[in-house]
Amino acid sequence: MQPLAILKPASLSQAVTMHQAEPQPRYLAGGTDLVPNMRKNIQKAQTLIDISGLAELREIRTESQSLRIGAGVTLEAFCEAPAVRTHAPLLVQAASQVAAATHRATATVGGNLLQDTRCYFYNQSDWWRTANEFCMKCEGDICRVAPKSDRCYACYSGDLAPALLVLDARIDIVGPTGTRQEPLAALFADDGMHHLKLAAGDLLVSVEVPAQAGWSAGYEKMRLRGAIDFPLAGVAVALRRDGNRVAELRVACTGVNSYPGLVPGLEALAGKVPDDAFYATLDKAVRKEIQPMASTLTAAGYRRRIVSAMARRLVGKLFAAACN
Ligand SMILES: Cc1cc2nc3c(=O)[nH]c(=O)nc-3n(C[C@H](O)[C@H](O)[C@H](O)COP(=O)(O)OP(=O)(O)OC[C@H]3O[C@@H](n4cnc5c(N)ncnc54)[C@H](O)[C@@H]3O)c2cc1C
Ligand code: SF4
Repeated sequence: MQPLAILKPASLSQAVTMHQAEPQPRYLAGGTDLVPNMRKNIQKAQTLIDISGLAELREIRTESQSLRIGAGVTLEAFCEAPAVRTHAPLLVQAASQVAAATHRATATVGGNLLQDTRCYFYNQSDWWRTANEFCMKCEGDICRVAPKSDRCYACYSGDLAPALLVLDARIDIVGPTGTRQEPLAALFADDGMHHLKLAAGDLLVSVEVPAQAGWSAGYEKMRLRGAIDFPLAGVAVALRRDGNRVAELRVACTGVNSYPGLVPGLEALAGKVPDDAFYATLDKAVRKEIQPMASTLTAAGYRRRIVSAMARRLVGKLFAAACN
């Protein structure tokens, strides 16, 4: 690792100012994504702005119609917070599957959302990449997964984002040009090298999760090691049941694109009985949305099939458990 300066801002505005003033700056939250990547020399920084001491980022607040979660809340605190457990149990289900308990003690909500994308040819040590050639995302000039491609297909592999997307979450950002609130979905782009639509110095402050009366929701992930691992594929589902019909349905995926995305076109299933035709339409919509590539040790075709299977299974389970 190169020599580093570590700065501790006393406020959000000071953090943003430091980001503008210092050479090669990065915000540091729990460090469980950034630091391993810096040690592998795939992410670089000369200055780390340690935002873990900022009290404004560590609040969980119940508001009249929503729950506001500070970006600096650790996943451990998040999973234990009664407000989160009551307001959005889906989020606890997803967050409790992130990495291992020791990571969750320091890993944060914001760091989870803003983690780097992943690929077998990229998340390797410096010596591995030197011996096996670099790739376009870091120091090389071709994509090893799709050599003729001019884009990178590294996968977004966060567990929280799909769960927040099906709950229609919004995010608050402060940056050099002021503050803004936007839908979480607007944060992500379909590009493994530039998957976050953030300007230099933008700091994620909080996530707002609207009240979900009448909705049932769940998350499933497939990973190689059950006790600790990124999702090779993950699916979140939220649905509203009305009698023997699905009144509304949202599905979001992770691990299978460069962004975590809501599956489009599911309005067509609103008001339908979940029969074979319903599941065939769901399958088609999910398969159209995802684009797993040979960027992990698990075959892309398998990941494609497993996403459809997890989506079908979750919808069936949630529908059966939902109140009429
Ligand atoms: C062995 C291992 C297993 C893992 N398994 C999983 C897994 O199963 N699922 C999963 O989702 N993740 C996994 N991770 C990745 C990581 O641990 C988590 O995503 C974690 O939540 C990252 O949070 P952090 O606070 O440590 O982020 P950091 O590493 O501190 O930051 C990550 C990135 O976000 C930026 N950042 C952080 N906070 C802010 C903010 N408020 N505003 C602006 N930028 C910010 C940082 O600059 C950095 O670029 C794993 C990591 C390891 C090492
Ligand atoms: S998808 Fe291609 S460019 Fe992107 S990290 Fe993998 S090998 Fe590198």
